[in-house]
Amino acid sequence: MDSVSQSGQLFHIEVMQGIYLISCDTARTPDHGHSLAPGKPTGNSYLVVGEERALLFDLAADHPGIRDYAQHLAGKPVQLVLSHGHFDHTFHLNKFSEAWLHPADEKLIREGMLGIPPVDPCPLLHPLQDGDTIDLGGRVLDVINIPGHTHGSILLLDRQTRTLLSGDTGARRLLYGSAGLVSLADFCAALNSLQNREFEVMYSAHDRCALPKAHLAHMIRLITEELPKTTKRWSYPGFDEMVWLVHGDPKCLNYFDMVCPASYFAGKTEYSPAGHHQTV
Ligand SMILES: [Zn+2]
Repeated sequence: MDSVSQSGQLFHIEVMQGIYLISCDTARTPDHGHSLAPGKPTGNSYLVVGEERALLFDLAADHPGIRDYAQHLAGKPVQLVLSHGHFDHTFHLNKFSEAWLHPADEKLIREGMLGIPPVDPCPLLHPLQDGDTIDLGGRVLDVINIPGHTHGSILLLDRQTRTLLSGDTGARRLLYGSAGLVSLADFCAALNSLQNREFEVMYSAHDRCALPKAHLAHMIRLITEELPKTTKRWSYPGFDEMVWLVHGDPKCLNYFDMVCPASYFAGKTEYSPAGHHQTV
């Protein structure tokens, strides 16, 4: 099953019945192997297999053979869905003829970001909205939009296994407000109501470990109580000054690391639904 390239070797692990984590060994994570233990950040795609079709969530495993690999593993047509439009979730997107994502993130793909050029050729992009369902035949996934990491970030809830594929939103590392600011209060309220959904564990795009549902309450507590107090700063080309909260050890499940634009606390600039930034 494995195919080899400069990016490493693709592999898969069935983490739940009919849900496969697909990733590849890269030079960036040499000590990771195929372990599902908490550790350094990785790039994971997930394949959810229904009776008629399969769904590939994200192109976060940076490998040119991911499309064929997923198709072969599924043995049936594969629909590509993106959790959001960031470049590290859209590797080799130009090899696909169509993809589904939230329209608020289309711009990131069509116009590029952080000096990374637009996807070319760009596949046909279909909109997915909060509340949509995707029926793979005998298996239904719910689409949940939570603006925060990006405005168009979505999560998928697999009703069959009660598993949440949480992208970069329900995660141990959160780059907040990377494409415009969203109220932290609104974000925490969305995480809070997510706790009422029927699932037991989450799988994120950059961790291979299963995250318990209780991780959401942990995130909310750290965001509301610890983040405003943090004095640590994070900088990266193309980003504004960011405050940086680091909690715990990456090898422990409860690790949490978050960066958020410092302007959020300085100027109370918040995202408005009309898409304009306003200072209140
Ligand atoms: Zn992202």
